[in-house]
Formats: sequence, C-alpha cells, structure tokens
Amino acid sequence: MGPSAVADGGPIFIDLRSQPADIGRARRQDPSPGVPTGRATPISLHRITLLPGDGIGPEVAEIVVKILAAAGTTIEWERHLAGSAALGACGEPLPPPVVESIRRNRVALKGPITTPVGEGFQSINVRLRQGLDLYANLRPVKNLPGIQARFGNVDLIVIRENTEDLYSGLEHEVVPGVVESLKVITERASTRIARFAFEFARRENRRKITAVHKANIMKLSDGLFLDCFRRVALDYPEIESEDKIVDNACMQLVMKPQQYDVLLLENLYGDIVSDLAAGLVGGLGVVPGANLGDEYAIFEAVHGSAPDIAGRKIANPTAMLLSALLMLKYLNEQQAADAILRALEKVLIDGRVLTPDLGGSATTIEFAEAIIAAL
Ligand code: ATP
Repeated sequence: MGPSAVADGGPIFIDLRSQPADIGRARRQDPSPGVPTGRATPISLHRITLLPGDGIGPEVAEIVVKILAAAGTTIEWERHLAGSAALGACGEPLPPPVVESIRRNRVALKGPITTPVGEGFQSINVRLRQGLDLYANLRPVKNLPGIQARFGNVDLIVIRENTEDLYSGLEHEVVPGVVESLKVITERASTRIARFAFEFARRENRRKITAVHKANIMKLSDGLFLDCFRRVALDYPEIESEDKIVDNACMQLVMKPQQYDVLLLENLYGDIVSDLAAGLVGGLGVVPGANLGDEYAIFEAVHGSAPDIAGRKIANPTAMLLSALLMLKYLNEQQAADAILRALEKVLIDGRVLTPDLGGSATTIEFAEAIIAAL
C-alpha cells in the first residue's frame, strides 16, 4: 500500500477522566478554588511536576509550558532535573525530591530522559514507572489532520504493561561469557493490565482488543499473560477479543493497520510496537503517551531524547504537546485541551509552518508561535 494523504479530523483524545474504579483515586479533586481569569469558565490552579529531561526534552518541554499558558491554563510547575543532568548536579540520577514532588502533586509531565546503553545507571523512566506503580502505558496512535503519513484512518490504542517483563532489571552473569536476563510475568500484573484494557475499551466504545504475545515459544511467561487476558475477556462479552503472535502482528500492522483497534502488550513488545505504530502515522514526533497507576500519572511522549537533533532547534513538540493535552483532560481541563488541539490542527492543516520531520523547515519555536497565534 502506498503513502496516503491523511486528513481525519476526529479527536485524538481519549477520555482519561473516568478510569476504572481503582485508577479513579488518582484524580485530582480541583486542589484549589477557581482563580479569577475573566473567562466564562473558571480555571483551576494545578501544581504539576515538570521533568524537562535530556536531549530535545528541555526544548519541547518549555514550548509546551508556553502553549499551555497561552491557552489560559493556570499551572504552577515544579521543575526538577533527572537523569545525567541530575547525576552531574547532585550525584544521583533520580534525586529523592523528584519522586517526592510527584507523590505530592500526583501528576507529572516528563520529557525524555536518556538511558545509558550497556552500562551506567538504571533507566529513570523504568524506575519511575516501577517505583510509582504506573502499570499502564497508554499510547493513542492516530492520524492527525494535514500530516502526510504512510496510512490513513489509523486509530490505534497501544496499551503496554509497564512494570515487569524483561524490564525487571534482573540480569546476571552465570559464568564468564554467559548472561541471563529474567523475564518476569505475573498473574497479578497480567490480570490488572488486561482489566485496564477492557475497562478502557468499554468506556471508550472500542470494538476489539488484540493481545500480542509469543506464547508459542515462551509457553510459560507469555502463556500466562495470554491466559489472564482470556480470563478477563470473559467478563466483557460485548468487546471482541483476539490474540496475535508478535511477529505476525508486526507484519499485519505494516500491511493493514486499520484492522486493529486496541493492542495489549507486555512491556518489551509494547515498547517496540509503539515505535512501529508511530511510524504509521507520521513518526515519533506526533505520538503522545500516559503512564497511569492507581495513585499517580506521568504524561510523556513515546519518543526518546533524540540526541541526533538535540540543540538544533528543530524538534517537533507535537508529541509532548499531545501528552500534555492528555494531562489536561486528566485534570478535567477539557476546554483548554480542546482549544489547543484545534489550534494545533489549524497549523498542521495550513501546512506552512511545520518542523522538518513533518516535511517543513520551521524551527520548534516558529511552530509553537504558529500554534499560539492560532489559539
Ligand atoms: P529511546 O531509546 O530513548 O526510546 P530511541 O532510540 O527510540 O530513544 P528517539 O530518541 O526516540 O530514539 O529518536 C528516534 C528517531 O526519531 C531519531 O532520528 C530522532 O531524531 C527522531 N525523533 C524523535 N523524537 C522526535 C521529535 N520530537 N521531533 C523530531 N524527530 C524526532
């Protein structure tokens, strides 16, 4: 199938306001009274932890802060360093005040944080997800109007288990030249993420969930994940459920992504398939994400720190902006989220001010200024 122009203007948002009962506890209950804004609808003051991150992280994070302010949101950001910047500044890549801030505010917006390859400190992303029990990673992958992509009419939700699998970090050298990495799959986490997926599908009127696995080879671990999925599916007869072996699912995704609706994956497959899915709709510059748990939520783009373009002022802030819009919905700031989305879509459809990854030549700041002007 060849490339196709895409102009599906449907909302990219998913409703994060009514999570399953246990997730609902994470909701902030309008922590302060509405502040006077001169607008018809009072806007609440929110205190949010901001981790700008590494690489392109600070560039896109500050842009997003500006756009949210221009849209009239009143957010008090608590900025914190994490990763190698924090390691340099205070000798610890995840200083305790960072986690304390997220625990206090319950919500964070996070830029990408570089993870050293093959050595160095453990991934800060993984530490935060595991430490705060942010067990569900939700990644809506949808065409944006005006963005040329490989496919049109793609509207996928990738749900990735976020706490275990090969990300357990349990590796050891058995004897020199032989290492083992432990893949940990538990009934508890597999059932919990399957229930999250079905509750999400029910609430959002999604028609089908596809569990993706390799249970033909990893009969015990992926077999358990699949068993849990099938057991939970029995409680949701109105939602179609199926499973696909991961290699086949990848091939099908790049042949005909429209056949999928919600994809449910273990941690590692979820990471890989998220990037693949982002490629279907225009790349990593446009796909947002949310890490959700019962108590806390961290919103972050799918992309990494993109060291190849860091400091060149050409990073696309859309993925981080859309992640922030998921956060605004989570905070019940629907109106502001809708207004920003409309402004973003105007700029994308207009097509004159786009970052290079979308085929344009604008800088990050020019793109952001166009969005602010369109608000
Ligand atoms: P990680 O391992 O941290 O997930 P990665 O190896 O997947 O990172 P990314 O940092 O996500 O790599 O970048 C992959 C490619 O996508 C790079 O070429 C990068 O420049 C590009 N890219 C990622 N994010 C953006 C963005 N916001 N705007 C433009 N290009 C981007």
